[in-house]
Amino acid sequence: MKFETKTIHAGITPDSATGAIMTPIYQTSTYVQDAPGQHKGFEYSRSQNPTRETLEKNVAQLENGYGAIAFGSGLAGIDAILKLLKPGDEVLSTNDLYGGSYRLMRTIFEPLGIHSRFISMDKAENVGKEISENTKLIWIETPTNPTLKIIDIKGICDEAKKKGIKTCVDNTFASPYLQTPLDLGADMVMHSATKYIGGHSDLVLGLVVCKHKADFEALKYIQNAVGAIPGPQDCFLALRGIKTLHLRVQRSCENARAIAHMLRDNPAIHQVLYPGFTDHPNHEVAKNQMRDFGGMVSFDLKEDTVEAANHILKNTQYFALAESLGGVESLIGHPPTMTHAAIPRNERLAIGLTDSMIRLSIGIEHVDDLIEDLEQALPKR
Ligand SMILES: *Cc1c(COP(=O)(O)O)cnc(C)c1O
Repeated sequence: MKFETKTIHAGITPDSATGAIMTPIYQTSTYVQDAPGQHKGFEYSRSQNPTRETLEKNVAQLENGYGAIAFGSGLAGIDAILKLLKPGDEVLSTNDLYGGSYRLMRTIFEPLGIHSRFISMDKAENVGKEISENTKLIWIETPTNPTLKIIDIKGICDEAKKKGIKTCVDNTFASPYLQTPLDLGADMVMHSATKYIGGHSDLVLGLVVCKHKADFEALKYIQNAVGAIPGPQDCFLALRGIKTLHLRVQRSCENARAIAHMLRDNPAIHQVLYPGFTDHPNHEVAKNQMRDFGGMVSFDLKEDTVEAANHILKNTQYFALAESLGGVESLIGHPPTMTHAAIPRNERLAIGLTDSMIRLSIGIEHVDDLIEDLEQALPKR
């Protein structure tokens, strides 16, 4: 089945009780049993829920995995994956990591004895050299936020396999339409479905997809023991969002391409970060592992100040000033004072995150309106 058909049909059958073509929202905590222990596969909604199960079956196929597990948020999914580790184990992670993942690893798991090391993943061989005897998990996030670097998933998974180390890819920025890391050798994939998978900025939800039955069962056990589940209404909304995932992401990619080129031609702009440019340092890797280059574009200004960035942030009309990404509507944000405000300035500059850096999440509006909006907000020539 092709991806575009999977979004609509994979794992989804008409409701067995009524024939409803759309998966019903099973808003129930418990299920009546015929006799003690005799039931229809559902006992209690922390353990199983039919709406959640349909979402999980669908996403497992989108990512070509053995099984998927839906969580109350992306971070709840990451939390469960880190709980597969034991005190003394080490995670090797990219130094350009989503802030919430960094906080979870540093401030929650570090005190429990699960150590994280944040390294450059620009070259797969370097990652191989950084592996220590305690390394048990390699955490990849690509494209990275907000500098949109591309990490070579297959190269790093090959290095990890040589030493029997598990790999997980945070696939939030790409979505399974653009990139399927399990096909490139990863053991697990994690999504903040809050972003492209949900796609309408109306829910918070996480998904983890496993390639192997053993990881799936271990995570399922953790989820049932801990309880970080999403509600059935959010699972319904995620399923509904997925039905148009391919159309939305494709349009976002097309709009982003046009906007990246428009920005690059504007004399007020210093640099545009977009993996679709042929001179982007990881363009070849992006071309090999992604179907298209994504709907995110970052840029900074020749006048590299927070004030100059603020002027643009305040003056766009369709681009709403907000955190998050991946919805149908375009968003504009200022990572140095928003998502990355907790990082000291010199560390921030060292990873290329300048004072005037602006990040765009390109939606699916008409590209002419988006370009006009940005042009009127950018400094006049
Ligand atoms: C938003 C995000 C997360 C966290 O997901 P939540 O659903 O907000 O918990 C993790 N990784 C990336 C790349 C994200 O953008």
